[in-house]
Amino acid sequence: MPKIILTGDRPTGKLHIGHYVGSLRPRVQLQNSGEFDKILIMIADAQALTDNADHPEKVRQNIIEVALDYLSVGLDPKKSTIFIQSQISELTELSFYYMNLVTVSRVQRNPTVKAEIQMRNFEASIPVGFFTYPISQASDITAFKATDVPVGEDQKPMLEQNIILPKNDACLRLPGTDGKAKMSKSLGNCIYLSDPENEIKAKVMSMFTDPNHLKITDPGSLEGNTVFTYLDAFCTDEDFAKYLPDYKNLDELKAHYQRGGLGDMKVKKFLNAILQAELEPIRNRRKEYESNIDFVYNILKEGCEKAREIASQTLKEVKAAMKLDYFDNEEFLKELHTRFK
Ligand code: ATP
Ligand code: MG
Repeated sequence: MPKIILTGDRPTGKLHIGHYVGSLRPRVQLQNSGEFDKILIMIADAQALTDNADHPEKVRQNIIEVALDYLSVGLDPKKSTIFIQSQISELTELSFYYMNLVTVSRVQRNPTVKAEIQMRNFEASIPVGFFTYPISQASDITAFKATDVPVGEDQKPMLEQNIILPKNDACLRLPGTDGKAKMSKSLGNCIYLSDPENEIKAKVMSMFTDPNHLKITDPGSLEGNTVFTYLDAFCTDEDFAKYLPDYKNLDELKAHYQRGGLGDMKVKKFLNAILQAELEPIRNRRKEYESNIDFVYNILKEGCEKAREIASQTLKEVKAAMKLDYFDNEEFLKELHTRFK
């Protein structure tokens, strides 16, 4: 069986470091591993519209932002097909048939759908399209016969079978800079991949730590301490040698913090140095692609054409299985002849 990856992102904003550790970085590693026969990366604009029907312009603008983020982290259009969901109408058609295979209560029980409905304050006015997005996700995955779907942990309830989660626990669901459970475009607690140097620094310096760690001499707690979670997600032993040689590794730094005598500022400066080093080349590559926007436009256009070819083949197979292939072969006419002999 061919090994096929499908994954994607909603064009509701630029991508942030939560996307990076949760999904983009592993995706690029998988792409470069050469172990996959096909890699499809979807900009999920149709899904974004399910809770942004009033903001179509926002979704339209962010198509290109997400594409630029993809290219700048190292997704390579020669190895990965980048396409836009709404341009593949086969996906919508598949969803319509799949809706017959799932009950309302099954979707209602989905913990991510529940949490997202609450987060968006939909209460009794949930758009039907939003409610059914896990079904549309099943269409996206099966349309391309994907065997593997690299995503963050919030997608686990949708993807029982072919999920690839990050191996590092801190990357499963990176918290926001405000300490809230998830860095999320909709919550405004993000460090964006395209943020300029001074903004990254300002965000790091105002990050949530341990509210009871008032004096440097106080023992500090790591529990819910966002700065340490980010270090878990980003730092390596080499970073200590480069930026903080007083310590060998993160365990030593953590132990000192917990003992007392290590100030937040020192830890934040260390984190800032690591993030700047990781994000600078990404930001620079983005600028190059920004100055070559026709190239990016064409990547998307060609990606859509490739994706449509694959999805239309699958839709044909599904329609045949659902007995909807009236004019694709001789069968239906033969049946008619037998019945009306
Ligand atoms: P929105 O608020 O519009 O839903 P989002 O920030 O949640 O946006 P998505 O486009 O829904 O982003 O998610 C894209 C991918 O990134 C998914 O695989 C998701 O699991 C992953 N992801 C999103 N946020 C995080 C995070 N904070 N940590 C790890 N992975 C994340
Ligand atoms: Mg989301």
